[in-house]
Amino acid sequence: MTQSSTGAGTSAITVIFQRLGDAYEGDVWHWSPDYVRGSMDIIAGAILVQHTNWQNAERALESLRAAGALDPGAILALTDDALAGLIRVSGTPSVKARRLRSLAQTITDAGGLDAFLALPLEQLRPRLLATHGVGSETADAIALYAAGHRTFVIDAYTRRVFRRIGIAPDADAYEAWHAFFERALPDADATAFQQYHAWIVLHAKARCRTRPACDGCPLLDACESARHVPSGGRIGVTPTLPAAARPPVPAAAAQSGR
Ligand code: SF4
Repeated sequence: MTQSSTGAGTSAITVIFQRLGDAYEGDVWHWSPDYVRGSMDIIAGAILVQHTNWQNAERALESLRAAGALDPGAILALTDDALAGLIRVSGTPSVKARRLRSLAQTITDAGGLDAFLALPLEQLRPRLLATHGVGSETADAIALYAAGHRTFVIDAYTRRVFRRIGIAPDADAYEAWHAFFERALPDADATAFQQYHAWIVLHAKARCRTRPACDGCPLLDACESARHVPSGGRIGVTPTLPAAARPPVPAAAAQSGR
C-alpha cells in the first residue's frame, strides 16, 4: 500500500533523505556548485538535457561557450540555423534552438539575467512556465539551481524511486508530487532541496535503475518493491532509526554542496 504525505509517509521521507545523504553526499553531479560554471549553464542545460543524457547536453553547452553564445543576448542574435548547428549534439536541434531562443527572450524581457534570477519565485515560475518548451520540471530546475529558490524538482527518477519504496501522493500529476514533497519537508531550505534532488538522481542512476540493484541498497528496509525485505520493517511504519539518532535532516543536509 502506498503511504500518503501525512504521518508515516512524511517521517519516512525525512529518514530516506538522511539515508541518501549518508550514501551520496560528496558525490559530484552536473549541477554541483563546485562543478557548474554559472547560471547560464544551468538555464541552457535544462533545455539541452531534455530527451538526452548530460554528456550530450554538456557537449552542446561547450559548443555554445566556445562560440561565445552562452548568453541570452548572444542566443537571440544567432539565426535559428546557426543556433541549431551549435547544439546539434544534444539532439532535436531545431526544437531546442527554438526553446533556447524563447527562454533567452523571457530572460531579456525580465531585464536581463541578473534581474531574471532576482525575481521572487511567485513571479519567476509563472514566467518560466509561460515560455515555449519549459515545463514544470525544467522551470523548477532553473528556479532551484540557477535562482536558488525553494522549489522541489520532480522528475522520472523521483517518481520511480519513491513509487518503488511505496511513498507517493494520491494523484500522479506533477503538481501533486511537487506539493507532496514540499509539504513533507517544511523545514528544508533551497540548499537542502538541491541536495535531495541530486541524491535521488544519483541513487536512481547508481542503484535504483530500470533493473534495480537492491542488495546493499541503503533504502532496502524501507522499500515495498525490494525483493529481499529484512524483518526490521519499513521506514515510517516501524522506523529503523531511533528518533534520538535522527539529526534534523534539512539543516544537516544544507551544510555542504550537493
Ligand atoms: S531497494 Fe531496490 S527498488 Fe528499493 S529503492 Fe533500493 S534499489 Fe530501488
